Amino acid sequence: MTEEKLRIGVFICHCGLNIAGVLDIKELVEYAKTLPDVVYVKDNRYTCADPGQDEIRKGISEHKLNRVVVAACSPRMHEPTFRKTCASAGLNPFLFEMANIREFSSWCHPSTPKEATEKGKDIIRMAVAKARLLQSLKELEVPVTNKALVVGGGIAGISSALDLAEMGFKVYLLEKTESIGGHMAQLDKTFPTLDCSICIEGPKMVDASRHPNIEIISYADLINISGYVGNFKVKIKKKPRYVIRKNCTGCGECKEACPIEFPNEWDSNLGVRKAISVPFEQAVPLVYTINKDYCIECYKCVDACGAREAINFDQKPEEIELDVGAIVVATGFDIYRPYDDPLYGYGKYDNVITALEFERLILAAGPTGGKVLRASDGKKPHSVAFIQCVGSRNLKKYEYCSGFCCMYTLKSAILLKEKYKDDVDVSILYMDMRTNFKGYEEFYKRARDLGITFIRGRASHVLEDPKTKNLVIRAEDMTLGQPIELLAEMVVLSTAAVPNSDAGDLARILNVSRGTDGFFMESHPKLKPMDTPVDGIFLAGACQGPKDIPYSVSQGSGAAARAATILSKKTWKIEPIVAVVDPAKCRNVNVKCGICAERCPYGSIEALEKQPAKVITATCHGCGTCVAECPADAITQKHFTDEQIFAQIRTALEENPEGKILGILCNWCCYAGADLAGTSRFEYPPLIRPVRVMCSGRVDRDFILEALRLGAGMVLIGACHLPYDCHYISGNWKMKARMDALAPMLQKLGLSPQRFRVEYVSAAEGLRFAELMKEMAAQLAELGPEKIKAENAKLKPVLENMLKKKEKK
Ligand code: FAD
Repeated sequence: MTEEKLRIGVFICHCGLNIAGVLDIKELVEYAKTLPDVVYVKDNRYTCADPGQDEIRKGISEHKLNRVVVAACSPRMHEPTFRKTCASAGLNPFLFEMANIREFSSWCHPSTPKEATEKGKDIIRMAVAKARLLQSLKELEVPVTNKALVVGGGIAGISSALDLAEMGFKVYLLEKTESIGGHMAQLDKTFPTLDCSICIEGPKMVDASRHPNIEIISYADLINISGYVGNFKVKIKKKPRYVIRKNCTGCGECKEACPIEFPNEWDSNLGVRKAISVPFEQAVPLVYTINKDYCIECYKCVDACGAREAINFDQKPEEIELDVGAIVVATGFDIYRPYDDPLYGYGKYDNVITALEFERLILAAGPTGGKVLRASDGKKPHSVAFIQCVGSRNLKKYEYCSGFCCMYTLKSAILLKEKYKDDVDVSILYMDMRTNFKGYEEFYKRARDLGITFIRGRASHVLEDPKTKNLVIRAEDMTLGQPIELLAEMVVLSTAAVPNSDAGDLARILNVSRGTDGFFMESHPKLKPMDTPVDGIFLAGACQGPKDIPYSVSQGSGAAARAATILSKKTWKIEPIVAVVDPAKCRNVNVKCGICAERCPYGSIEALEKQPAKVITATCHGCGTCVAECPADAITQKHFTDEQIFAQIRTALEENPEGKILGILCNWCCYAGADLAGTSRFEYPPLIRPVRVMCSGRVDRDFILEALRLGAGMVLIGACHLPYDCHYISGNWKMKARMDALAPMLQKLGLSPQRFRVEYVSAAEGLRFAELMKEMAAQLAELGPEKIKAENAKLKPVLENMLKKKEKK
């Protein structure tokens, strides 16, 4: 086979004055012409605009270009645009590379144009070096199962299921409790319109149960998911109800006959239910369940059921398997029950309750028939105080604002005042009143007009008068600037909305990540707010963070639309940036290795005994962690191969290496943070030469050794924050373990500790990136070129030896 002769075209963008206002474009053009295999160089005012893209197409056809480099903005911005341009001119889109000279140069070094131009040259040279090694790649196509699974039957999940079903897709709506409905079905009225919650949610629950495309699987748990976008295999375990669903008519005669009662969790344990019952009258599906923890097996229910024969005490858990193409996770939230905070007396004083308990009290269909009564004496309180931000906005508990508590407290206070008028004094102790959506501020005014007292301050203590069971709240009135004591016959705590206790287990099953707050994390907070890093799995509602009903409904519909982008297709294309194993090099054939399979965050590698490891291409996310972990260098990450990364490192350090910082930055966090530094025009010294990798997990130890062997002044690995920010679940942890072992070894060999750093910078931390660059530049200056050169001279033979040894292996 004759080797293809390389013909690289470099297109340099002025981006108006965004680049051309700082960098010397003419100098860049002349410089690019001198680079190996570059046969054509063209500058454009705006390369991303139609004329600019036409120039690329023209270049490809007229100059027979077989590699294209665009020196312009960040690849995070326009890489897909230019890939498409290349494809439209008949060039494989993966034979394209971008040189980021805007965010990484002109925008962050405006007052040092000469140095910025030099940096621009290096960045272009690095891109050309990679382009010379690029290979054509083919997108993979997998078939799609046109069915969806929605996990969680709250209002977000119901909305998602209904929308998908209306689009014509079969939907499995999985709910772990006996009925769909979620928290909304527990509420009395909803803010700001005060319409009855179950009256508006009930019809939707029924619609879901009657829709021919929806199958509700309630009282069941998700136990496993395998497969990949378009082709998930889902394992579900149905818990036994001891009632045969198809035979149960929901008539309730069994309940009437049952002699046993136990606390009803649905009523926040304020009411009771029978050992055979439904949690609430409007339950969907309306199928009874026997609670075997309480049932005395008197069989009165069996007699009452009679000929219908719906009761079966021998029912067993049942496992089922489903094939689906997309999954919407809508598992909602829980509330914090502050038993562990003695300041509020919750669980100790009868008349201190949570806001959710209050909802059940004031609800006409609730355990007290809608009467707000004190647990201590069954009497109506004449003064009720609501305390906001219990657990929320508290650095020691839950740092975030729970979002909807201000509004539901206003709602409860209004309902109470409207119900008992002058017979009750209502006060709200708050930190800030957050009423920022449609109709919410007007609702706040309505509360003020009703004579509700608002006190700005945080409660420091709730005490009880043991005789009267009345309560005293000690607080600081921030408006008066002095401590106060507030008397109340009942205290209602607006407690934090928290992740479900099983959210961690579910995250593991789904392979999705959680934020530091424990809620599920979206793929991108702005542009992909409903996607997860796992293709084909989407988020809706409060499982992603506290959200009120309108927001949860919108997200339910949004997630349905996102899922439909997959379900509506016969096949789905997967980016070919995946790992491949060279079976000839894989150790697993001779010795039991399997490190790659163990370290892959997605379980996408199979390492069967005495066989070479095998990558399941369709589920590989292309983080490259396995490549860096493989002790035999038997795995390659397409488009981010060792050769390509080494080429970039070597090219970056061709001149004045000791004056440079070689940065290997992960695409999703640190690279994006550096982009933001540029976009925000945070200026810093132009010393870094960035190499982009998809995940810090890809960073091989040898990259650092090679950079130091070549004399780099400093080496930086920029990663996503620990513990949960990694776009590939745990690539950053794997990198950390590797580098934690490497750093002390390098120091022992004589490397100054400042010269090798691992830093965690998020996509939102542009300023932090700029500050980090300033700090590293100052350290580099302090070390001075002579000391660095001396260290390098000592280190070089050792590093060469280490790298050679590895090659020999
Ligand atoms: P949820 O309602 O929590 O539903 C999640 C569902 O998923 C539940 O059915 C749950 O059982 C199920 N689930 C959980 N885990 C799993 C699993 N692993 N497998 C299967 N199923 C699972 N908002 C308003 O707009 N107006 C109001 O007036 C209002 N008042 C409120 C009052 C209080 C006291 C509280 C606490 C909240 C209030 N809210 C109000 C907020 C409202 O409750 C939420 O917006 C809404 O419930 C979010 O819906 P969701 O479907 O995301 O979650």
